[in-house]
Amino acid sequence: MLTFIMKPVSVLCNLRCDYCYNSNLWSKTKEEKKLKMDIRLLETFICQLSELDENSFSFVWHGGEPLIAGINFYEAAVGFQARYLKGKQYLNSVQTNGTLIDQEWAAFFKKNAFKIGVSLDGPKKIHDQFRKIFNGSGSFERVMKGIEVLKVNGFNPGIISVITKNAAKNVDAIWDFFVSSGLGRLNLSVCAEKENGKMASFSITPLGYASFMIRIFDCWMAKDDPDIKIQPLESYFQGLIGGRPTICHCANECAAYLALDYNGDLYLCGRFVGIDKFRIGNIMEKTLKSLLCSKKWKSLKGEIQASKKECLSCEWANICNGGCTYYRYINGQLLSSLNYFCSATKKILRHMKSAIMELDHSLSTV
Ligand code: SF4
Ligand code: SF4
Ligand code: SF4
Repeated sequence: MLTFIMKPVSVLCNLRCDYCYNSNLWSKTKEEKKLKMDIRLLETFICQLSELDENSFSFVWHGGEPLIAGINFYEAAVGFQARYLKGKQYLNSVQTNGTLIDQEWAAFFKKNAFKIGVSLDGPKKIHDQFRKIFNGSGSFERVMKGIEVLKVNGFNPGIISVITKNAAKNVDAIWDFFVSSGLGRLNLSVCAEKENGKMASFSITPLGYASFMIRIFDCWMAKDDPDIKIQPLESYFQGLIGGRPTICHCANECAAYLALDYNGDLYLCGRFVGIDKFRIGNIMEKTLKSLLCSKKWKSLKGEIQASKKECLSCEWANICNGGCTYYRYINGQLLSSLNYFCSATKKILRHMKSAIMELDHSLSTV
């Protein structure tokens, strides 16, 4: 399956989160008032997908805030998919900050079988510390209102929770909040960004990240509730018991994740939009098929693989697979460095392995 992180409004957003990795591109929004993807560009792109040998696609509508594009834009998108992707499989999901969700959006998502992911960092005090609206006040109430509308319409949204330096100090409060709110489909997304060549103050350290994840893992094991699903712990768990980890960080599948910016620029993954090194080309200048056969794309994929040299001899290689490429990039600006969270991953996996072995031992002695 090929996944496309679709950026219909590029970095435009109705929020101003302090840790936003798009913030270095916000100046663009002043110069270019309209960053919305043109409908003809969208049609061209979906038509070009039909020319690929690939038979299944995942569209992840992302931002900025993707709902700013408006329902008509998405009506057009599902129309093009139905027209051009006959005989192919595809699914749609949207990653939203949740603040614009109302009954009309919920009905649209339901009718068109969209999966929903909402960004929420935990209880109000923790969420509002970084996730702010333009005037600097927190966005928690608006997000919870959006989630409520989704729940009323039968959705159990996935939650992306950003793990900052601050979150690491509040691990139990975060865990209790998600469990008591019945929001058990969690993706814990580590937060580490660079500002002026140094790690930004909100970034979590590898040590902080390891303690956070180990504590969450212990709570998860103690709770033993099959409805609580936590990434990347699920993937690590699957890997440790001999299965295949599913998330992109662990599955060595970066090249199956591409991002399409509003203007037709194609990148490796949404994490790299705006960084020229990772721009493969523009779909209005060359077809998607030719871009995916281009020298630039081949050499980028080669560089990603070559950058994992040190991982080849690692005992966790089959599970971690070098981790997220972005965190190798920010560790040295080039794709040659070890993952910024390598030491944390080793600690987490070591802890999980011994907990699983202990459990196995106690079960076999019952
Ligand atoms: S909601 Fe997302 S895109 Fe918008 S400011 Fe926050 S982190 Fe950035
Ligand atoms: S734990 Fe570190 S060395 Fe091992 S595979 Fe992951 S990034 Fe590579
Ligand atoms: S850069 Fe990271 S988030 Fe993006 S596809 Fe690769 S592993 Fe996944």
